[in-house]
Amino acid sequence: MQSYAVADLLLEDEALRDGLQIESRIFTIGEKIELFDYLRDAGLKRIQVGSFVHPRIVPQMADTDALIRTLGKQPGTVVSVLILNDRGLERALACGVEHVSMSVSIALVAAALPGVRISLHLHDTRGLGLANMLAGYEAGVRTFDVCAGGLGGCPFVKGAAGNVPTEDAVNMFDSMGIATGISLPALMPAVEFLETTLGRALPGRMKRVLAFQRACSAETGGAG
Ligand SMILES: [Zn+2]
Repeated sequence: MQSYAVADLLLEDEALRDGLQIESRIFTIGEKIELFDYLRDAGLKRIQVGSFVHPRIVPQMADTDALIRTLGKQPGTVVSVLILNDRGLERALACGVEHVSMSVSIALVAAALPGVRISLHLHDTRGLGLANMLAGYEAGVRTFDVCAGGLGGCPFVKGAAGNVPTEDAVNMFDSMGIATGISLPALMPAVEFLETTLGRALPGRMKRVLAFQRACSAETGGAG
């Protein structure tokens, strides 16, 4: 059996960006901050809050500059944003964001910058998100993008399902003895907030598992 050492694992939640960019309901800045607070309080150390894309193409992200300015510096949690081009980088620098993400070809980067920290961005389209995450971990990747509830899809990739649910990834690493620094029960308010606000159940599995475990222990307690 493979043994795993406690490692500097980093899960970056992207529900506010990859999750909300596909939703027809546009969240207010207040709602985005509420979700950010739940995720930060659960222990997420890096949270992607938006992207700098043209608001006509992705109107859900139109308030990203204002959101970053409102959030300001967050002690213990890095606020991250997705950029696609130079214009996006200029907007990111102008509002003082601490971390930018950019999708690039891993062929090119590994060759040009040996030793650079690579992150893996997975959608769960074929139900293999966690399996691919584990394969990535075993290959040495230590940073993974996730979305609370498994929210998401992609306006540019037709048929893409949501990202790997944050809570399911935390459960997987917890059960392997790999510290994430994220509290699984404390993630539930974020998932519940999203499900209530959007009016539908999300694909993440751990909310149902924890509810079932609570019901079982209440039953056992009642019988005893
Ligand atoms: Zn994505």
